[in-house]
Amino acid sequence: MSGMNFYDTLLYGFIVIALCTMPYLLRTTAPYGRHSRGGFGPRLNSTLGWVLMEAPASLVPLGLFLAADDEHKRSPVVLAFLLLWQLHYFHRAFIFPFRRRGGAPMPLVIPLTGILFNLGNTYLNWHYLLTLRSPYPPGWFTEPRFLLGVAVFLGGFAINQHSDFILLHLRRPGETGYKIPYGGLYRLISCPNYLGELLEWVGWAVLTWSLPGAVFALWTAANLVPRALAHHRDYKRRFRDYPPERRALIPLVL
Ligand code: NDP
Repeated sequence: MSGMNFYDTLLYGFIVIALCTMPYLLRTTAPYGRHSRGGFGPRLNSTLGWVLMEAPASLVPLGLFLAADDEHKRSPVVLAFLLLWQLHYFHRAFIFPFRRRGGAPMPLVIPLTGILFNLGNTYLNWHYLLTLRSPYPPGWFTEPRFLLGVAVFLGGFAINQHSDFILLHLRRPGETGYKIPYGGLYRLISCPNYLGELLEWVGWAVLTWSLPGAVFALWTAANLVPRALAHHRDYKRRFRDYPPERRALIPLVL
């Protein structure tokens, strides 16, 4: 199979699997964090699970960047893409896991599927940006698509960080239970961290104006819409005084 055919097969395979994953996850919530439960095989420490699962998404693009031809490597636009990507993934792989408090052990199947997804997704995005697509010209920096995409990406990043910050400070050292989060977008929805993450990858699709970017946004929605609905149900089940006006993921809508 030629490189191009392998790439296309993987890309369209990713679209099909994302479209199947969403209905599956609506019925079966991924068994980690508050939805941890038995029956999913051996488990490992959740901090280690997060690092193993997310490290490829930070390291693979660096490897592909170093191996790329000079014309792509010297493009300041691609460097800007790499900075944005690492802003998210360096934090997610090497900082976020150590900021968490508590956390039940994670079934091994979660990091294994996470690693497979991250290897495929980073390859699809970065092989496209560094090899398949002709280098973005410097004029891309003033393109409305780039400017709008960066604004959405950074807005999403800020929402994700702020919302995770609130969650990560709900527990005192040694605590493992759940509390009602307040402040920021928690006034309106149960999972603003997921909304922020979704906005980041929608912004990425727009700022790179690429099909693999759009497929990544689709995957993020396939993962996080069902999980936000499950978290929202869990909050309402746990807390009788849960603010009734809150929605799950999208203010006033969902
Ligand atoms: P959660 O919101 O479930 O949990 C985040 C952290 O906060 C965990 O350490 C959790 O502990 C703790 N926490 C959550 N709610 C409460 C509460 N009410 N009271 C006390 N502590 C709480 O997020 P995830 O773990 O699912 O995801 C973490 C990050 O990874 C998010 O930023 C998310 O956007 C991102 N992510 C991205 C995905 C993608 O497809 N791109 C997929 C999944 C996550 P505990 O673990 O014990 O529940």
